Amino acid sequence: MFIKPKKSLGQNFLIDRNVLEQIVDTVEIANKEVLEIGPGSGNLTTFILKKNPKKIYVIEKDDELALILKDKFTNEITIINDDVLKISEDKISNEKLTVFGNLPYNISTEILSKWIININNNFWFEKLVLMFQKEVAERIVAESNTSNYGRLSILSNWKLNVKKIIDIKPQSFSPRPKIDSSLLLFTPKENFFELKDAKNLEMITRIFFSQRRKMLKKPFNQVFKNAKAIAKKFNIDLNLRPQNLEAEIYFKLVKEFENLRG
Ligand code: SAM
Repeated sequence: MFIKPKKSLGQNFLIDRNVLEQIVDTVEIANKEVLEIGPGSGNLTTFILKKNPKKIYVIEKDDELALILKDKFTNEITIINDDVLKISEDKISNEKLTVFGNLPYNISTEILSKWIININNNFWFEKLVLMFQKEVAERIVAESNTSNYGRLSILSNWKLNVKKIIDIKPQSFSPRPKIDSSLLLFTPKENFFELKDAKNLEMITRIFFSQRRKMLKKPFNQVFKNAKAIAKKFNIDLNLRPQNLEAEIYFKLVKEFENLRG
């Protein structure tokens, strides 16, 4: 059946068997519950099924594709015909899920941020195997002191370990996107820095990285009344730039900000 891809829903379907195999080989899923985000016409779903998971849930926003999936897989998968940004994933199952997603590029960082921010103590997933635009993936995995390092690297690093698995060329998709993609594997951190409100981390990193070429003095003065004393407490040289501070330091600064505000 010919499916006219909808650009607005980021529909670039994976057609490369080698890549599809590599994606499902990233983690062990036999007897595990799997959640796939944006299954499209079910290309990746077919490869997931071959690995004998215990159960597969899929979330697909496109009504037309949801019907096609129902027809193609009948009782083999549970279809949630909805917007992933509006779903409470922690309500899907009592078991921890392994998540796959060749994510729509236009909302990929929004999906990841939503998941990270909404996790309290309990992770609803065991592993995330997600595809991003290569340029976005590079920002997610970036270490401090590099030009790709920024808000997204710090947020991802807060609760997750991240590893790049493979880069994927445009010819592996139909229609071909204009850019390369990368597959990332995320696993929950056993311990992560407790903050009162993720919004404070977002706000502080926004202030720092919106002026990434400026010395730390400027954002420090914007965030803290007693900037010099706080820099001294954490042994931070205010002549450095935002990219020179490790993620851990940002978490400590946010905690300090929260404590000062009471
Ligand atoms: N997994 C398929 C594959 O690899 O061939 C399709 C991937 S395609 C890049 C992204 C899929 O996500 C599309 O099927 C699209 O309809 C779906 N999608 C887009 N926005 C969505 C949303 N907000 N919630 C759920 N699914 C969405």
